[in-house]
Amino acid sequence: KLSDRLAKVCEFVPSGAIVADIGSDHAYLPAWLILNNKITTAVAGEVVKGPYESACHLVKSLGLEDQITVRLANGLEAVKPEDNVTAVTIAGMGGSLISEILDRGYEKEILSGKERLILQPNIGERTLRLWLQDHSYKIIAEDILEEDGKFYEVIVAEKASEAPTYTEKELQFGPFLLSNQTSVFKAKWADELEQKEYVLKQLKAAKGDQSAKIEKMTQLKTWIEELI
Ligand code: SAM
Repeated sequence: KLSDRLAKVCEFVPSGAIVADIGSDHAYLPAWLILNNKITTAVAGEVVKGPYESACHLVKSLGLEDQITVRLANGLEAVKPEDNVTAVTIAGMGGSLISEILDRGYEKEILSGKERLILQPNIGERTLRLWLQDHSYKIIAEDILEEDGKFYEVIVAEKASEAPTYTEKELQFGPFLLSNQTSVFKAKWADELEQKEYVLKQLKAAKGDQSAKIEKMTQLKTWIEELI
C-alpha cells in the first residue's frame, strides 16, 4: 500500500501522463501509477546509489522494466528530451532542495514548460512558492494532509504566460490552502504557532540585535492567530 502522502501526489498526476519522478528512492510512486493503470510510462531518477539500486530492484521484481526507466542522475538530468515527459513529481524533500532541483533543470532547459509540476515539500513551502512565482509557474492546486503525526503539503503548478503575483500571505500559507481552510490546515498552523511562540521567546532572550527576526516572526504569529 502506498503512503497517504504519495497517494495524494498521485491524485494530481493526469491519466496517461509521462511521469518523471525525481528522488524516486524505491520507485514506489511510478510503480503504483502503472500498476493502477493511471499511466504507462515513467522515468525514476535517483542521485544516490543505494536508493537507485532499490528502485531498479523493485522495477525488476514487478516486471516493469519496459515501463519504468530508472536512471542514476542528479535532479532533472534524469530526463532526456526524447522521454517527452508531461509531469514531474518531486516528493519528500525540503522546499529549498526541490527549488534547487527545479532551478538546475530550468537553467539547463530540461524543463520545457509543458510539464505539470507536482511537488510535495516536507518543509520550506514558502521558498518553493517563491521559486514558482519567480519562474512564471502558476499554482493550479494545493492540498494538505496529515500522516503519522506529520503535515504534508502538495503544490501543483504549470507554466503560465505571465508570472503570477502572490501576496506574502499566499506565499506563506498557499493560495489554495488559504482560500479553503480545512481542519488539517488549521491543525498544522496551530502546531506551528506553538513553535513560533517558542522561537520568539528564544529570540527575545538572545544577545545582539534580533529585531529584524523578531519583527518577521511576530508578523507570522499574528497571521497564524488570525487564521486559527
Ligand atoms: N520521493 C520519495 C518519497 O517521497 O517517498 C523519496 C523521498 S526521500 C526522503 C528523498 C530522495 O531524494 C532520496 O532517495 C535522495 O537520495 C533523493 N535525492 C536527493 N537529492 C536528489 C537530487 N538532486 N536528485 C535526485 N535525487 C535526489
